[in-house]
Amino acid sequence: GAGCISSDCKSVEQALVESIARLGLEREVKVVETGCMGPCDLGPVIVVYPEGVFYRQLKPADAVEIAEEHLLKGRVVQRLVYQAPDTGEKAITSDQIDFFKKQTRIALRNTGIINPESVEEYIARDGYRALGKVLSTMTPQEVIECIKRSGLRGRGGAGFPTGLKWEFSAKAAGSPKYVVCNADEGDPGAFMDRSILEGDPHSVLEAMAICGYAIGSRQGYVYVRAEYPLAVQRLDLAIRQAREYGLLGENIFGTGFDFDVEIRVGAGAFVCGEETALLASIEGQRGEPRPKPPFPAQGGLWGKPTVINNVETWANIPPIILNGPEWFASIGTEKSKGTKVFALAGKVNNTGLVEVPMGTTLREIIFDIGGGIPGGKQFKAAQTGGPSGGCIPAQYLDTPVDYESLTQLGAIMGSGGMIIMDEDTCMVDLARFFVEFVQDESCGKCSPCRVGTKRMLEILERITCGQGRDGDIELLEELGRGIKASALCGLGQTAPNPVLSTIRHFREEYEAHIYEKR
Ligand code: SF4
Repeated sequence: GAGCISSDCKSVEQALVESIARLGLEREVKVVETGCMGPCDLGPVIVVYPEGVFYRQLKPADAVEIAEEHLLKGRVVQRLVYQAPDTGEKAITSDQIDFFKKQTRIALRNTGIINPESVEEYIARDGYRALGKVLSTMTPQEVIECIKRSGLRGRGGAGFPTGLKWEFSAKAAGSPKYVVCNADEGDPGAFMDRSILEGDPHSVLEAMAICGYAIGSRQGYVYVRAEYPLAVQRLDLAIRQAREYGLLGENIFGTGFDFDVEIRVGAGAFVCGEETALLASIEGQRGEPRPKPPFPAQGGLWGKPTVINNVETWANIPPIILNGPEWFASIGTEKSKGTKVFALAGKVNNTGLVEVPMGTTLREIIFDIGGGIPGGKQFKAAQTGGPSGGCIPAQYLDTPVDYESLTQLGAIMGSGGMIIMDEDTCMVDLARFFVEFVQDESCGKCSPCRVGTKRMLEILERITCGQGRDGDIELLEELGRGIKASALCGLGQTAPNPVLSTIRHFREEYEAHIYEKR
């Protein structure tokens, strides 16, 4: 994945391949390049099978040693295996590492395991079997019922029931119909969708074809940001491979069903993650939101019925079809079914990509999987949902993470970014950072967002540089409420959340900035 490439995993791989050749082991050892395995702070990683020995934080010289010792002589290189940061305890295989042990991987079932550039490896892991099942044994309405009964809700942030969305499009008048994948992930600190596309691109294509059959569409688009070149490259390859194997294109599996997918590369505007702006951008227009209704399910791309789901939502579809809706609905909480992928970042020992059942507590994610806060510092808060979300302070660590609980706390699930703050983090600075981000990314179409976020930023700037005034906190609250109520799209409607939630939970820090300097 892109994270390990930036840690020079290509040199590690090259050293490994060269050592295997030098030692004459090419016939016995196969080197497989995978997508992201998840633990960003441990990369680059090599896992040696069949034992599953997990080597971490490797340099090219380490890869040479692994080849000479482990691959040639069968001796595990102890100094390169995982060691827990707090206890120093060693874990030889990935199954023994808490980071992996406590996860339930559905959307990430293949990432870090298969070679994402090989359609055969995807097929070997049940890939395209769900599409085969749907085309040969299910009616379109049965597919929609299956997704509805699973309880799957959109993983892009809003949490709308996926099956219902498909049903609206299926029943909507108008032709042709379209299927769209939103891969315009833009939250600072979020990389769930990128990792799935880089590590398992066929899972998204297969799911889109299943939806195409269910709603009566022949054409899909993946809208992906240009800042994700590896994801674009692997997706492009996956589309070409799927067409070659007759898994996309005309007459799929000889059933007479036609469905194809094209990529549209976005230029990186955050607002294009908003569905109506994204659709406008695909149409070749300026990427600006428009009022809803009509909702895309009825009047989307070129005014036609369109299903738009994000990458993680799509990645859940094939396992639901194969294992049944009851299996999926048995995971998670009453109203939030299945799992959620989080990008764990900030002041936490184990950063990376984690997938847990809905309802897992923040404490389990941050301390059991994330390994706690580095340097013995205290946990202060977690920011979920990026610039649209809010912060959750320490007294709510045992809150189950699901759509409803997070909303009650003034945060949101969002797409899955989770940034951890320790005792040294200034919460006013954090709020200023996010408002600066949304102010910069506001498309400017409506004045509450364009002007309101600018005024909020000015107030936050004067507070953080010691020039705050009496009434500034109340002004921020009033502005925030006004923007939420009157902005045109989700970007503006959620932009004040980081400010309002930090005022709600850390008001004393704002007061300290304003009054203690006097
Ligand atoms: Fe544009 Fe912001 Fe208005 Fe959305 S809320 S339309 S991003 S100005």
